[in-house]
Amino acid sequence: MTDEYLFISDCHLDINRQDVIDSFVNFLTNRAPQARFLYVLGDLFETWIGDDDEADELQVVFDCFARLSQQTEIYFLAGNRDFLLGDQGAARLHATIINEPSLIAPGQQNIGLLHGDTLCTDDGDYQQFRNLVRSDQWQKDFLGKSLADRKQIVAGLREKSKHAMQQKTTDIMDVNQGAVLDCFEELEVTAIIHGHTHRPAVHHYPGGRIRYVLGDWNPKPSYLSWTTDTGFVLTDPRI
Ligand code: MN
Repeated sequence: MTDEYLFISDCHLDINRQDVIDSFVNFLTNRAPQARFLYVLGDLFETWIGDDDEADELQVVFDCFARLSQQTEIYFLAGNRDFLLGDQGAARLHATIINEPSLIAPGQQNIGLLHGDTLCTDDGDYQQFRNLVRSDQWQKDFLGKSLADRKQIVAGLREKSKHAMQQKTTDIMDVNQGAVLDCFEELEVTAIIHGHTHRPAVHHYPGGRIRYVLGDWNPKPSYLSWTTDTGFVLTDPRI
């Protein structure tokens, strides 16, 4: 058996969801150590408002990452909930931050890694919001505020986004098929792995190309694994 790759996203770790934290701790302790590589593809946390937030309630998770890192390489690609995770946050995860998109080549296949929100191009309002909050100026302003102010701003944004999502059709919040095909071309990959949409599935495209969509944790794990023996296997309670 060769080295195993594991991919997860959208755990949305939150102190108000102890069941998800327990499930995640169990995964990091009992499943993840079998893998040589763990890729976290964003929205690991429900919110991450800056590395200066101690997030003490999640220390149990950081401790698990520390133990896991003794035999498993950990990589973190940011999602729309935790893109403010910086070097200090990555150090607490014992993870290397990787850019979006990232390319990997398990078994000589070219694979693209994304969080997934950039593929949801039908949702123009969201893409506009994304451009704003990913700008250096917005991040500088936001991180310059007190933790209390930041918590309040994020809570306000959450309410707004919940309201906006109720007004949108579910199709708008899924990936745009044209954006997916462009992504295959631009990255020159045979497969794409992403999360974000909370619609776990394996989608096949012309030319043998495949898109693997990771699910959210609620609280059961959703993960993709790969070894030379098994190929890609998506494990999710819904499929
Ligand atoms: Mn997301």
